[in-house]
Amino acid sequence: MNGYDWREALALRKADADAIQRVRTERLRDHLSLAASAAWYADLFTRTGLDPAMATLADLSRLPLLDRATIESHPEMFVPKASPPPVDIAMTSGTTGKPLVVPYTKNDLERLAFNEEMGFRTAGVTPEDRALLTVTLDRCFVAGLAYYSGLVRIGAAVIRSGPGQPARQWELIERFRPTLIVGVPSFLMALAKKGRRLGFEPSASGVKKLVTIGEPLRRADHSLTPLGRDLASAWGTELYSSYGSTEMETATCECATGTGAHVHPELLIVEIVDENGRLVPDGEPGEVVVTPLGVEGLPLVRFRTGDVARLHRGPCGCGLNTERLGAIEGRLAQRLKVKGTTIYPEMIFQALQEVREIGPVYIEARNAYDLSDEVTVVAGCDDAAVKADTIADMLRARLRVRPEVVIKSRKEVVEAMDTGGRKPTRFFDFRRQNPEDRSQ
Ligand SMILES: [Zn+2]
Repeated sequence: MNGYDWREALALRKADADAIQRVRTERLRDHLSLAASAAWYADLFTRTGLDPAMATLADLSRLPLLDRATIESHPEMFVPKASPPPVDIAMTSGTTGKPLVVPYTKNDLERLAFNEEMGFRTAGVTPEDRALLTVTLDRCFVAGLAYYSGLVRIGAAVIRSGPGQPARQWELIERFRPTLIVGVPSFLMALAKKGRRLGFEPSASGVKKLVTIGEPLRRADHSLTPLGRDLASAWGTELYSSYGSTEMETATCECATGTGAHVHPELLIVEIVDENGRLVPDGEPGEVVVTPLGVEGLPLVRFRTGDVARLHRGPCGCGLNTERLGAIEGRLAQRLKVKGTTIYPEMIFQALQEVREIGPVYIEARNAYDLSDEVTVVAGCDDAAVKADTIADMLRARLRVRPEVVIKSRKEVVEAMDTGGRKPTRFFDFRRQNPEDRSQ
């Protein structure tokens, strides 16, 4: 199961499609064979007649999609009897329900570190880099641990500053001169603004790269969102967006071309499916379905992430031949159909990032009479010169959909978004029948 050598891994990423397929097929067989000692998969393989040791990549599509609710209802059925006991208990952030417990074995942690090492290498990180890590390493979260152990594998120095405390972050930036910051885009933007107020110029700080997580920085056509543009210009750096999740146990990271996040071929299979679970053609949007290879603690096969994106195949300008996952375009459960046009709240948030006077924003969705969704955008803005009609017209020009726009004070909007969760609620779904609630 080991063999996590970055030189070998890099050679594989530059190899031709056949060589990549061969390695993937081997890894898939190993993965399914281990999974077969878990009750859920044993039953599944018997029912479908799939022989894990002989499976091909094409055979995957014979298996049903798996959603989080199914794992939550009987998690013990997903733990292979053949797996060693866990050494780390991770949990998902629980933004869409109760947190899912994800046990990591020793090998899973090594796999996680290797995965992140390869992500950072894709972003051009070297042993000479010093990284300010502004994501949390505790609270049973896995992203911070993954970044940390990946950087350690590379041999880069890590400054584990953790989230928040922008003034203290600037003390650390001044003292240790990091060349790389890892963090959430909106926090890194706030950090740049705070730096300017404190008399530090972010673009003169010596930081050369930002590796981000949690919020998309690009649109489907790879162009930067307004937040991405602001971030790049405030710091004067390159941006590398990464995507992953606790249960995926794998992350993808952009290269310098900014045309999607490279999928680690030996660690992850990504499929993009339509609402009927069928594969969509390359470059078309659909739900991201993942099969993380080589996981021992909680192996997943065709797991639905609920995120919508596109997959791009073919050689990349950076020299790698691995497929790339485009920017996340939205959450499937939040998909809105407005008079025949499909949009996601994320697209509205991104469009409104261009209006500097607007602060926090939330969206409400209700059923309209014509099978369409009625969308209300509530924007926090204390500038009386900004008119709801002007904003609605701007949204129509960008998205071909004209939602109702309501302007309230920033304070009112912040209060309405505080629903007691860890993060503010940005989307309120009052639709009676949410099509994504259908279980598999
Ligand atoms: Zn590339």
